[in-house]
Amino acid sequence: MSDEVTIINEENEVVESLTTDSADSGYNSKTYNNSNNLPVSSPVNSAPTGVEDSAPHIDGSVLARCSGRVSKTPSHFKDYDLSLHSSLASVAPLEAILFDIDGTLCDSDPIHYYAFREMLQEIGFNGGEPITEEFFVKNCSGMHNEELCHVLFPDWDIERARKFMDDKEAMFRRIASEQLKPVTGLEKLCKWVEDQGFKRAAVTNAPRPNAELMISLLGLEDFFELLVIGSECDRAKPFPDPYLKALQGLGVSSEHSFIFEDSVSGIKAGVAAGMPVVGLATRNPEKLLSDAGATLVVEDYGHSKLWTALEELEKKTEEVKVAN
Ligand SMILES: [Mg+2]
Repeated sequence: MSDEVTIINEENEVVESLTTDSADSGYNSKTYNNSNNLPVSSPVNSAPTGVEDSAPHIDGSVLARCSGRVSKTPSHFKDYDLSLHSSLASVAPLEAILFDIDGTLCDSDPIHYYAFREMLQEIGFNGGEPITEEFFVKNCSGMHNEELCHVLFPDWDIERARKFMDDKEAMFRRIASEQLKPVTGLEKLCKWVEDQGFKRAAVTNAPRPNAELMISLLGLEDFFELLVIGSECDRAKPFPDPYLKALQGLGVSSEHSFIFEDSVSGIKAGVAAGMPVVGLATRNPEKLLSDAGATLVVEDYGHSKLWTALEELEKKTEEVKVAN
């Protein structure tokens, strides 16, 4: 499947159009080590939509960093001129910050992997053998559910496949309800954003019920003024559409906004929308995110490198306000 990508500069002018394969879901590109220390859950088909079952513990330590599915990213993006965003201070005076959700606000990918593994085994997929982490990365992570219907179940009736994906998302939400945790330092960052009075939006390719649940579990319902869902845009990430929609919804300019993202796909979308992107290396290695176009890469929101950049941006923002 191919589609067209439009590269837009800081003035929202189209500077390049190109084609790429299907959009990434925004989930991290990564590989898991294939240890078998994920716990065994209660049977998957025991009412996956229910919340009464005790959710199994997902050990995030099973994840290992690696390069992931870079091949899905259009090579043309590498030629995009990043020089405009050598630092966050380039967007002073700052008006808005846009956040991806999965992997950026919270470490959710281990839960996605677990849900897929358990549910696919339950239906006898792969001869009843649990899918490996490598299989998950190559065939599940970073794909839309609609696309996954065809990849995983090419011989199934589409409605049956969609029902499976819906049940998987329900299982994700059930486990996430008990185990989802914020990325370190998120609370401190959100307080800083609120104190500064900057506008903020969540921009994700996750299904809306997942996105709303994660925001709720993180206690950020009142923090975000706007939630943009990729599948509700003409094109999801890695296309810039979701981020451009967020700018429009907040009534701000790309010249005075920046983004937090954790995936190659999301960083490409942000850069294509004309904004600097801070990469969260929650799962992906720093170099991968830097190569994707991140202006700055940090492991979490507590990193001194981030706060140095934010303080510089805050200072420049104040200087511009005083000068005007
Ligand atoms: Mg993400």
